[in-house]
Amino acid sequence: MARYIGSSCRLCRRENLKLLLKGDRCYSEKCSFERRSFPPGQHGQRRVGKHSDYRIQLREKQKVKRIYGILEKQFRGYYHKADKRLGITGTNLLMMLETRLDNIVYIMGFAASRNQARQLVRHNHFMVNSIKTNIPSFQVKPGDVIQVREKSMKIKPILEAMETVVRRGIPKWIEVDKEKIKGTLLSYPNREDLTMPMQEQLIVEFYSK
Ligand code: SF4
Repeated sequence: MARYIGSSCRLCRRENLKLLLKGDRCYSEKCSFERRSFPPGQHGQRRVGKHSDYRIQLREKQKVKRIYGILEKQFRGYYHKADKRLGITGTNLLMMLETRLDNIVYIMGFAASRNQARQLVRHNHFMVNSIKTNIPSFQVKPGDVIQVREKSMKIKPILEAMETVVRRGIPKWIEVDKEKIKGTLLSYPNREDLTMPMQEQLIVEFYSK
């Protein structure tokens, strides 16, 4: 499966936002965005004028893609599915992204970043409702129980992530049992529960041209 293999920190600098793609490093003084918060590249520090609507929409779309670590083809697929569903397309889109298995694993604190969560899911470390599941894009529904498999309970990245999750906190729409290393999605999040700054309407405008 295709994936982005370039510098993660470069993406934060491009989007002018800490996308929190590298776990612990993002909260330390080694964070590149803290040290160089201007866009990457030769002309990164050049003063920029007014941006066109197209550019603003494009950047918003790129930012959300990068937060969830999704490439263009799959992201566009999410948009089309969101558009077909009842309700507000932008909100539908964010809900689908937010309830991907890799994102839920990250939010439950079983991984230090979404990238790491995706890798751990692919490597068969998790079960959903007691069934081994290794598809990062699996859509988790309210009531689903995500559990670390017994053979994976002593894996260092999972244990370390669980120790540092207090920094982020667990949202109220998720319940985590640290002893049994499992969590439950209690309900779908409300739009205001998503804390990253995302303007989904701009993405809808980008794709609906
Ligand atoms: Fe972004 Fe994290 Fe790199 Fe900082 S350390 S620039 S937040 S990926």
